[in-house]
Amino acid sequence: MHGVPVSGGIAIGRAHLLSRAGLEVAHYTVPKSQVADEIARFDAALATVRRDLEALRAQIPSSAPQEFGGFLDLHLMILNDTTLSKAPRDIIAAEQCNAEWALKVQADALLAQFDEIEDGYLRERRADVIQVAERVMKTLLGQPGYAPAPAADGEESLILVAHDLSPADVIQFKQHQFASFITDLGGTTSHTAIVARSLNIPSVVALHHARQLIVENDLLIVDGTQGVVIVDPDPQALAEYKLRQHQWDIERRKLRRLRDTRAITLDRVAVELQANIELPEDVGQVQENGAEGIGLFRTEFLFLNRDDLPGEDEQFEAYRKAVHGMNGLPVTIRTYDLGADKQIGGKDAATAASALGLRAIRLSLNEPEMFLIQLRAILRASHYGKTRILIPMLMSVPEINQTLAHIACAKQELEDRSVPYDRKIEVGGMIEIPAAALAVSTFIRKLDFLSIGTNDLIQYTLAIDRADDTVSHLYDPLHPAVLRLIAQIIKTANTAGRPIAVCGEMAGDPQLTRLLLGFGLRRFSMHPARLLEVKQQILKSSLRDIEPRTKKILRIEDPVKLRALLAQLNA
Ligand code: PEP
Ligand code: MG
Repeated sequence: MHGVPVSGGIAIGRAHLLSRAGLEVAHYTVPKSQVADEIARFDAALATVRRDLEALRAQIPSSAPQEFGGFLDLHLMILNDTTLSKAPRDIIAAEQCNAEWALKVQADALLAQFDEIEDGYLRERRADVIQVAERVMKTLLGQPGYAPAPAADGEESLILVAHDLSPADVIQFKQHQFASFITDLGGTTSHTAIVARSLNIPSVVALHHARQLIVENDLLIVDGTQGVVIVDPDPQALAEYKLRQHQWDIERRKLRRLRDTRAITLDRVAVELQANIELPEDVGQVQENGAEGIGLFRTEFLFLNRDDLPGEDEQFEAYRKAVHGMNGLPVTIRTYDLGADKQIGGKDAATAASALGLRAIRLSLNEPEMFLIQLRAILRASHYGKTRILIPMLMSVPEINQTLAHIACAKQELEDRSVPYDRKIEVGGMIEIPAAALAVSTFIRKLDFLSIGTNDLIQYTLAIDRADDTVSHLYDPLHPAVLRLIAQIIKTANTAGRPIAVCGEMAGDPQLTRLLLGFGLRRFSMHPARLLEVKQQILKSSLRDIEPRTKKILRIEDPVKLRALLAQLNA
């Protein structure tokens, strides 16, 4: 199968399926001795949901419309019906499977029956069954989440196969030991893919039918560099890929020797390589790869997979941990980029706002309370090491002014509380909307530094939803319009003497390192796993050689010629 490569390397292992969205769960076998416990776990989840529904029922004010109570009664009835409360217990016992799987199997069977019902009213109750089953599922999973996969025994690695995963799902896999994952949907710079890359395991997205065609336990080869998945390979293919896997490991080991080497071109121009992180725990990986700071901390991941919002103290602790972990190296904390595919309050992709909607700084300015909490938390962390604030998705000068006013307000609140913070903290903006790119000189006047978010800049310039697999083949970082915009932003910032970085996925692609150097970029921020490869590329490059060639590439319109020139540049 061919898909879109997301994270390089080769994985060989057994397929581990996640069922389709809504009731996405893992299947695993429960030892005979634990079947009774598994049934008890299922019963406990039912009891919790029953208690929750009854409590909700009791809280309904008498003034509320009657349907409110009626709807809860209906849900309680569905919950207590033996088809949902008893049948899964029998499945657990008969199949020795986990409770989530048993519930899913039973719910699917029930829903199939609903499809055959002719009566419109009854057929509509299908949605209620789904809601009740999901409620039990979420309780079983510890809301919301996945059952931990069974530990891979011995040599066998597990490869996760899913129809789709949200960024919130993938971040949870940081705790799991999957060797790889593959999905039917998604694009190369979807947030799901970005988090996948941060797990540093081979992965492929946009495979379209993988979830349907692959069966639990199938032997799979995932080539995350080529975007190829081989199901049930023959012995020759297996031997060939084992060899390639071995070579890949040797390459990685060689790269590790570059950890403490400075990133300097052959003509002795220094380049700064920083890292992107999603959670403070990622700092370890940043250090391992010798990054010179954090260029992008995507703080919104602190807000996902939970019902409540992280408070000021909790956020402060997370930011301080990253700042402290970096030992005085700069940490660029981006204010939350929530909305679009990263929803709070357990909402899933189906209810997601559009990428053109209330997202990032727009959401922050719409929710000043929540924004101020985060700003105070970041400012407090700035007392413990070099910290910078980065604002996502800025589009206009009034937005910048409002943002700066909020920062001033957060500072004043800390002054009033006599809490220390860095009074000279720098504030930067992400350039990821074409309007901001075209008007970059006004941004330069207002902000201390800039960072180009190429993932969004490409999405908005080409009108390609970065999370939509049906258009992922059109997503093109090498589109002349994109290249000219990026080159123009860098040139304008350099002329004004304003620090400029690229922190989108382009910064971590070694095939684009020389091109970006040629545009005048001297600061890259990327996922730590990409850093050493990019450094290796810089060490082999000479600006004198690159610059005239990049100028030529910028003048080319024909995509085939452009790619040929890029290949020559990288040769
Ligand atoms: C980008 O858009 O390039 C970027 C770095 O931000 P994110 O990927 O989190 O949207
Ligand atoms: Mg972005």
